[in-house]
Parts: sequence; structure tokens; C-alpha cells
Amino acid sequence: MAEKRDLYDVLGVSKDASQDEIKKAYRRLSKKYHPDLNDAPDAEEKFKEVADAYETLSDQNKRSQYDQYGHASTDPNFNGGGFGGFGGAGGGDSFSGFEDIFDQFFGGGRSASRNPNAPRQGEDLQYVMDLSFEEAVFGKSTTIRYNRKNVCKTCEGSGAKPGTSPETCSRCGGAGQINVEQNTPFGRVMTQTVCPDCEGTGKIIKEKCPDCSGEGFQSERHSVKIEVPAGVEDGNQIRLQSQGDAGKNGGPYGDLYVIFRVKPSDIYTRRGTEIYYELPINIVQATLGDELEVPTVHGKVKLKIPAGTQAGTTFRLRGKGAPSLRTHHTGDQHVRVKVEIPKKVTEEQAQHLREFAKESGYEETKEQKGETFFSKVKDAFKDKD
Ligand SMILES: [Zn+2]
Ligand SMILES: [Zn+2]
Repeated sequence: MAEKRDLYDVLGVSKDASQDEIKKAYRRLSKKYHPDLNDAPDAEEKFKEVADAYETLSDQNKRSQYDQYGHASTDPNFNGGGFGGFGGAGGGDSFSGFEDIFDQFFGGGRSASRNPNAPRQGEDLQYVMDLSFEEAVFGKSTTIRYNRKNVCKTCEGSGAKPGTSPETCSRCGGAGQINVEQNTPFGRVMTQTVCPDCEGTGKIIKEKCPDCSGEGFQSERHSVKIEVPAGVEDGNQIRLQSQGDAGKNGGPYGDLYVIFRVKPSDIYTRRGTEIYYELPINIVQATLGDELEVPTVHGKVKLKIPAGTQAGTTFRLRGKGAPSLRTHHTGDQHVRVKVEIPKKVTEEQAQHLREFAKESGYEETKEQKGETFFSKVKDAFKDKD
């Protein structure tokens, strides 16, 4: 395979070109090389190259990945540092954007104006993968199975019964479209329309392939091995090149977008690389201090609670968070202390607390502040009765 050209060179724009400049360059070049408008033998190849460059550079995420990693960012083997398909843009978005622009200069008549025998890329597919909280943090390797359209093995995509071959449509001469005369208020106008005999394919299949009913495709159960990168988050996606539907007329396969759905954890919450955990402790632990075991996704960790720890105090367990997708950094776990106040105490416990209050001089402030530690304890008793 030939060395891929720099995408900015393909579009003839500078590295810091605006989205507008990229769009303009793409419009100009795709018009110039469109196979229906340009007879040069390499027009189609150039047209595809331009479309590919636009597909990457018009998408902010793909563009910044390309800037960082070059052509490797679109490589199907996205192991190592490759997280080629990550980003916000949905699978179909980049292509529908491409079609919109197409329709702008071909008046929506894209299929009618295209050579019906030109190779066409297959459809992109989506696969939603459910992950547990921990799987998202650590990643995993797995195999997914799904249905996709593949070239019919019986007829090798021709749609014709083995031993026969499709014939050129006599009505349109293989062009897939015919000229029709129409009466309009402005007089008789010649327009082009899809050939009704061959439905635009330019070919007539006399005897259809029995295994695909002449479609040229069959549904197949396809499996792909996936390395879920450590540190993915809910909504992240990866693109697996050429794992979508087969193309027409020998065109390339579409891509597969794997979208991750991460189940929430019962005890942790996560924002990016940081994991948050709430640790309940009692008033004695908060007052006198303690050493506790705290769960983390990396296993239990000992945490020293110093004497006099206030409610809401947050401790940081370094490196006990989630890894970053883009750097080698691993985040921290943040442990927020929640001091649990006893809802009920016995008369004996209350007596101790009253003594404690007296010794601490709480009673002196009782009248000034209205509500004090001591009055709270009294209230606790009221609830009990
Ligand atoms: Zn077939
Ligand atoms: Zn025809």
C-alpha cells in the first residue's frame, strides 16, 4: 500500500486552518475530482483521498488525535497508545455530515448521478457494550459477536446464480439512469432518472443467486476481539475500522463503533480519573481518632483518622483512582468522612454525655446560643419517648 499523504497536504490547507477553510477546500477539491465530473484515471482515488482527509479533519476529536498521533490514530489496530476512535462524535455523524455537503452540490441526486458500479463503502455499525464500574477502570479484553452484512460467498457479491453472470441492462446501457422528457411550464426539459429496469444498478440478473436472492450480501455472525482500554468512561467509544457491513462493488467495509455503557457503583462515584467514596465513622472515632480499612477498586487500604476529625473532611488516597486514557497518570481516591450521630442513647450514655458536656463547659453557652450539643442530646431523648 502506498504511503499515506499528510491530510493537510491533501486538502492544501495549513495545520492551523479553521473549520471553515477546511470545509471550503474540501468542497472545491471534491468537486474537482468527483468521478462523474472528472475523467482522469486517478480522479476517483484522489476523490476518496480528499473525502478521507475531510472526514478526519472536520471532526475536532479526530483532528486532534491525528495531530498528535498522525495516521496511527486511524489505524484499526488501536493497541498501544491508540485510542483512535475516542471522542464525542457519534458513528454516523461524520458520514451524515459528508452526505449533507454532497447533497448541496449534487442537488440530493447523489445516487442518480453516481456510477452504479463504483465501489461503495459499507454501512457503519454500532455496538453498545456494558461494563461494570471496575471493568471501566481496569479495562478488559473480550470478544464481541454481532450480525453484519458480508459479501455472499455463493455468488461472490454478484447476486447472480453461480455459473451465470449479471448482464448489462439494455434499457440504460449499464449507466443505471435514463433520460426522460418532461413537459414543464418552461417547455420540454430533459431530466435524468434512475433506470426502472435495473433500479440504477446498470445490470440485470436473469437468474438470481439462491443464497442471497440476488442481493449479493448475506447476514453473518461476526466476532471481533476487543481490548477495552483501562480508564474508559460512560459514553466513550472506539472505532474499529472495517468491522462494519461489507461495501458494494468491492468497496471497503464500514466501521464498527463500540460505545461503552458503565454501570454505576453502589459505593463509589467517579469523575474522570478521580474516585469518590464516603466513609461513615462514629463520634468516638471522629473525636479520638482511629485506623480503618477503606475499600478501593485496587483493594483495601488502611486509613488513619486523626483525633478531632471534622465531618466532611476529605482524605486523599494517592494512585487509588482510575487511569487516564491519554497519559500514564492514575488518579486518586477521595475519602469524605461522614460522622454519624447516634439517633438514640441509653439513660446511662446520656448521663456520660451530660457529664462530658459539663466538663467541656458546654452548659455556659447553652443560653447564649439556644441550641447546643447538650440540648441536642436532650432532643434525642425526646424523640425516643
Ligand atoms: Zn449470492
Ligand atoms: Zn438499466
